[in-house]
Amino acid sequence: EGRGESSAWCFYDEGMTASARERIALEAKLRLAMGLGQMQLYYQPQVDIASGRIVGAEALLRWNDPQEGFISPARFIPVAESSGLIGPLGEWVIHEACRQAQAWRMQGLPEVSVAVNVSPHQFLLTDVAGCTARALQSSGYSAQALELEITESALAERPDEALAVLRKLRELGVRLAIDDFGTGYSSLAHLKRFPIDVLKIDQGFIRDIPHNGDDMAISRAIIAMGRSLDLQVLAEGVETVQQLDFLRSNGCDAFQGYLCSKPLPAAEFAALLAGSGGT
Ligand code: C2E
Ligand code: CA
Ligand code: CA
Ligand code: CA
Repeated sequence: EGRGESSAWCFYDEGMTASARERIALEAKLRLAMGLGQMQLYYQPQVDIASGRIVGAEALLRWNDPQEGFISPARFIPVAESSGLIGPLGEWVIHEACRQAQAWRMQGLPEVSVAVNVSPHQFLLTDVAGCTARALQSSGYSAQALELEITESALAERPDEALAVLRKLRELGVRLAIDDFGTGYSSLAHLKRFPIDVLKIDQGFIRDIPHNGDDMAISRAIIAMGRSLDLQVLAEGVETVQQLDFLRSNGCDAFQGYLCSKPLPAAEFAALLAGSGGT
């Protein structure tokens, strides 16, 4: 061991072990945090471009660890996916988002829809339709105001099963959005086949507008396609007035991004909504 040809393997194994160890540690920590109720949802406004009004909120998971501070969902969602924790975590997210949205409604705040992210494993391997039905039932929130965001990869992997799940969700009355649109594959086939309501243009296409002509062409094409298929189109990651002007002049319906607000704790979102002069 540690000599000649085998040393490369030895090095490789140690690398694997370190990352596996880290993953297992994070998984244990996540399990604990979930048990202690340390997970939170933040809400990012979704703005109707024509009226400038806040019409929705995307619920985004936040994990504030007492030692490490905020741990990014980009880091812990993959761990939740591979460990199976995404089942209970995803269920909590749907229940909490519905509970919160119904509470806002009871407080008399302007009506907004709430969008919830559903990861590929959660979509394909857990009973997401049953879970959604229970969340609507226990919260009293209306299905029509709930939107579930699914990525193309969840649809592409096993299209027949995906279609069956989408149909069940559609029967409940919830709206369905394709998240990160344009970054997956066979997008056009999905659009034709699946009962989708909203396309969310990935922020990667928005970021370099107005400097990148290709990104502008792609965004324009997505908006045009969405409109002709009678889908709502929302652009993500809008940070500048120039980007918003571009989207408006090309007929995009809605946007999310730091230009309006970053994701906010529930109370701050409610305050923004109350002061936004909606209905
Ligand atoms: P996503 O669903 O594509 O969410 C959009 C991400 O972009 C969020 O990052 C949001 O904070 C960020 N963002 C919003 N506006 C801007 C902007 O103007 N500029 C830039 N640079 N970024 C912006 P976040 O909250 O860190 O979430 C990352 C990803 O983690 C999400 O991407 C989603 O895939 C996943 N995620 C978050 N919450 C959940 C959840 O409850 N369930 C599941 N399954 N996944 C989640
Ligand atoms: Ca999303
Ligand atoms: Ca997205
Ligand atoms: Ca994304």
